[in-house]
Amino acid sequence: MDGSAFLSGSKGADSNAANTLNLSANEIVAIHGTYENYYYIRTFVDKNGMVERDASNKQRWMFVPKSAVDVSRAEERAHDRALQKKVLAYRDTMWDVWGRNNSNLSTAPWYNYTATQRQQALEVFAEAVFAKMNLSISGIGFDAVDGGGYDPDTREITISNFSLTNFFSYELTDTIIHEARHAYQHEAVLNPSKHIVSQQTRQQWGNNLASFPANYHEYPIISAPNYAKLLELYYTQPIEWDAYSFEGYELDPLGYKPVYPSSWD
Ligand SMILES: [Zn+2]
Repeated sequence: MDGSAFLSGSKGADSNAANTLNLSANEIVAIHGTYENYYYIRTFVDKNGMVERDASNKQRWMFVPKSAVDVSRAEERAHDRALQKKVLAYRDTMWDVWGRNNSNLSTAPWYNYTATQRQQALEVFAEAVFAKMNLSISGIGFDAVDGGGYDPDTREITISNFSLTNFFSYELTDTIIHEARHAYQHEAVLNPSKHIVSQQTRQQWGNNLASFPANYHEYPIISAPNYAKLLELYYTQPIEWDAYSFEGYELDPLGYKPVYPSSWD
């Protein structure tokens, strides 16, 4: 639905908007609109339950507060390059410690670490990455999920136990950097003064991060009928293009074109 009309006359912080709209925290209604201090609200909460919840009941409205001073795309790009350089240089240092000779992985220290030693090493690594990126998250969890993930609701990064025991440090460090970048995107959308990100990019990320209406394309299962198309939607959406670019994974050679490149253009 287009709820712009609901927003006329409302302004100020989210709590003001919620009051104006007669909303409460656990109910939902989608609103697209713009008002004084915010770009738009993707999903809102309606006391009358006007919009159905999804099965997971995890719809999340995102709104993107305007920064008092916009950051230019050039400033954003310069900052991203410097931050990426710092993080990847640290990653390379740790690869040297854990063994980076691809031709002889079996003698690399990492190969002989126990699962607990790997977990401890990655916790130290993740905390150093979070500090370099000025992120307000303190650690990572290990569980049964596939690969890795970042949950914007709990602000947790998880790595699967399968990855921990079966993957070499290369894949794991890059997964942590990738998921940390998703945390960075989320913080940038909600807090304009925290990171050096332009309003245009924050708007694109906020739109992609909103889970209602569902704007995020999940990584498809390989048996999906439109697998190639779904995979393209996954890689080319703004927050994935940015996270892969930040970790140094080049998507252009695969023939993809981003919906929005963030600063990687
Ligand atoms: Zn991702």
